[in-house]
Amino acid sequence: MRITALAGGVGGARFLRGLLAAAPEAEVTVVGNVGDDMTMHGLRICPDLDTVMYTLGGGIHEGQGWGRDGETFGVAEELKAYGVGPDWFTLGDKDIATHLVRTQMLGAGYPLSAVTEALCTRWELPVRLLPSTDERVETHVVIDDADAPGGRRAVHFQEYWVRMHAPDARAIVSVGAENAKPAPGVLEAVAEADVILLPPSNPVVSIGTILQIPGLRQAVAGAAAPVVGLSPIVGGGPVRGMADKVLAAVGVEVSAAAVAQHYGAGLLDGWLVDADADADAVAEVEAAGIACRAVPLLMSSPEATRAMAQAALDLAAELAARAA
Ligand code: GDP
Ligand code: CA
Repeated sequence: MRITALAGGVGGARFLRGLLAAAPEAEVTVVGNVGDDMTMHGLRICPDLDTVMYTLGGGIHEGQGWGRDGETFGVAEELKAYGVGPDWFTLGDKDIATHLVRTQMLGAGYPLSAVTEALCTRWELPVRLLPSTDERVETHVVIDDADAPGGRRAVHFQEYWVRMHAPDARAIVSVGAENAKPAPGVLEAVAEADVILLPPSNPVVSIGTILQIPGLRQAVAGAAAPVVGLSPIVGGGPVRGMADKVLAAVGVEVSAAAVAQHYGAGLLDGWLVDADADADAVAEVEAAGIACRAVPLLMSSPEATRAMAQAALDLAAELAARAA
């Protein structure tokens, strides 16, 4: 079975681990988000791709969900001693090695997809990890600022989230998206998949950013495979992160049913909501033309996460049988 999953960072990576446990024989391609990428100290940093790589490669800091295990911060301490900022974003020493390899390869002319493949070779990744695009696409968030002309300004997503801790947002802009194209292999992985999954990643700044790459949304919507998503919203709020703020910024209610309708019946064939908190949402989602099931949706243990992935695969199989 060929499974193609779109994924952000921590939520996506944790789900993918459950997916590999549920379908150990499957050929899994992950289309990763690049909207969080940035350059700092001259280093190109791809937080979501690295979170997937470290998680599936066995190098993740388990408690945190991102960054390397057993990390040290010698470089960060030296930078601080020099008074060199920013002080709101700390890079670990092991992580810096990843960014050095990436930056060097990009500088030598390799596209991000080739760089990502090279980095993943070291981790013997059990999936094929593709960036959604080789072009630079960076998410910026428009926030209120009384001192800015017009009372608003845009900040890079990392600054919005890590430095500012997600204040109310007015708009989300994927800078560069309209001129980007899907990375090599992405459209093929979507077209040739038996199942397409949208993990419970952020629907706006993770999956939403991937779907904004021209051609990608149409490819997913038009694919022969059933498309099944899992709600990142449980009981009216995100399980972690700032999805509530960025959903509000794009005018979407913070509920499991509203996120399904935001993706839309043209894109999604099936949707999973949490059985404890959101069983009421099933009828509303089905009325919108999307098959919906209520199952436990908290990734509280490896077994719970495996069961979530299995539920998504079961719904996909049911939809494929119905279509045949
Ligand atoms: P990020 O890039 O690190 O923010 O990670 P993702 O975009 O891949 O995932 C973030 C989303 O995962 C958030 O909107 C969370 O609500 C969601 N999430 C995290 N843990 C869980 C969980 O246990 N269950 C569900 N349903 N969603 C989760
Ligand atoms: Ca992210």
